[in-house]
Amino acid sequence: MSTTAPTADPIPGVLTRESPLDPAAARLDVTVAAGDGWLHRLRTGEVLRIVDLCGNQAVDTLLYDADDVGRRYSAASTIRTNGNVYLRAGSTLVDGEGGALATITGDTCGRHDTLGGACSQESNVVRYGEHARHMHACRNTFLRMALDHGEPLTKRDLAANVNFFMNVPLTPDGGLEFADGISAPGRYVQLRAERPTLVLISNCPQLNNPCNGYDPTPARLLVWDAETAAAGDPDAPAAAPTTLPAVWRAGGGRPTDDGAGAAR
Ligand SMILES: [Zn+2]
Repeated sequence: MSTTAPTADPIPGVLTRESPLDPAAARLDVTVAAGDGWLHRLRTGEVLRIVDLCGNQAVDTLLYDADDVGRRYSAASTIRTNGNVYLRAGSTLVDGEGGALATITGDTCGRHDTLGGACSQESNVVRYGEHARHMHACRNTFLRMALDHGEPLTKRDLAANVNFFMNVPLTPDGGLEFADGISAPGRYVQLRAERPTLVLISNCPQLNNPCNGYDPTPARLLVWDAETAAAGDPDAPAAAPTTLPAVWRAGGGRPTDDGAGAAR
């Protein structure tokens, strides 16, 4: 079904939009095993669909300008640009200078987390105990992908990430909860690259909280080339305009609120 605008979902404030793109026309169709990772370059206009094959699987994701990885996804700037802490159909993911990296052009889940961050050995020990120290963790997967694939990414580039399909609702007083997921088998989120973009994914191996339903499962990734995507989905949402002051983008230095401080 093709729809011009995102449509309301039964969950208040949740928007969804199905995409008419045909999986048979994708130039790439791969499955990432539970706990594994993926690093891929998207050209401008290419579209990536992430399918939650079995439901309630957190897919931790980072985005970078493929030509300057210092210009990377910024949770703070993205929340400000979209005026919402959740990502959904029509949201634009931006870098620390407000420049668009990717826009969500399809989403049948309706809510994705910007705040929960990635699991790590350290956070697993703090949250779950010493026995969790050597469990697989997203931060290790990010680092392994970054170092193994010949891209100019290092540990310091692992900033605050998106958790696709993960449900981290804000409480009325601003607290965070790791809640049971709202995704289901076959639901997907779809991103259009607004410039050459590196996509780094950890298909979360977490066993100790409900982000994966205590059972990590595979994710399917499809990529359409720009021409096929534009022709197949002419009504896809446009990128949101930047909301950052022009002076921030005029060569006066990069803002430091990209959420990367804890990772340095
Ligand atoms: Zn994780």
